[in-house]
Amino acid sequence: MRRGFKTEAERLADRTRAQLGLKPDAWLEIRDLARHLKIEVHAADEFVEKKDLEELEHLQPGCFSAATFHLPGGRTVTVYNPLADPGRTNSDLAHEISHILLRHDVREIQQIAGHTFFTCNPEQEEEANWLGGCLLLPRQLLLREAFNGADPVSLARKYTVSVQMARFRLNASGVLLQVKRARSNRGQR
Ligand SMILES: [Zn+2]
Repeated sequence: MRRGFKTEAERLADRTRAQLGLKPDAWLEIRDLARHLKIEVHAADEFVEKKDLEELEHLQPGCFSAATFHLPGGRTVTVYNPLADPGRTNSDLAHEISHILLRHDVREIQQIAGHTFFTCNPEQEEEANWLGGCLLLPRQLLLREAFNGADPVSLARKYTVSVQMARFRLNASGVLLQVKRARSNRGQR
C-alpha cells in the first residue's frame, strides 16, 4: 500500500460516516451508505438462478463475494452473493463501496458461470479492504470495544461484519496495542 494511504483512508471513512450523521464510534448500516451514494444493491439471485450460484459455490468456494457494475446512464449497481452470511455480506458491500469512494477503475473482466464480473488489481483490493474496515469498524468504536475485551468473533457478531474483517481491524488498527499500553501504564501508577 502506498505511503500515507492508511491515514487517508481513516479520514475518508470518518468524513463519509459524518455525512450520514454518525458519531465516530457508531455502528454503520452499510446499505444506508449505499443509498446515500446512490449505489443500487442487489442479491445476485435476482439476476441468476440460485442453483447456479450454489453450483458455483460448490465448484469454487468463496470465489464470488460481490461485484460492482457501472451501467450506462450513470447507474452503479453492486451485486452480492446471497449465500454468504449477513456479516460477510456487510463486509463485502463495504469493500465494494470503498472501490467507488476511492474511484478505482475497473480493470479486469471475469466470466463466471456465463456472467460477467469485474475484478480489480491487488493493490486496489488491499486499499478497498482497508477502507471497508475503517467504514464498518472505525477506530473510536474499536478502541471502546478493545477496552471492553472484545475478540474478533464477538466483535463480528455485535457489528455484523465478517470475523476476518474484525480480526484484521483489531490487529491492523493498533488498538490492541494501545489498550495493552494503557493497562500497563495504569499498573505502574
Ligand atoms: Zn475488490
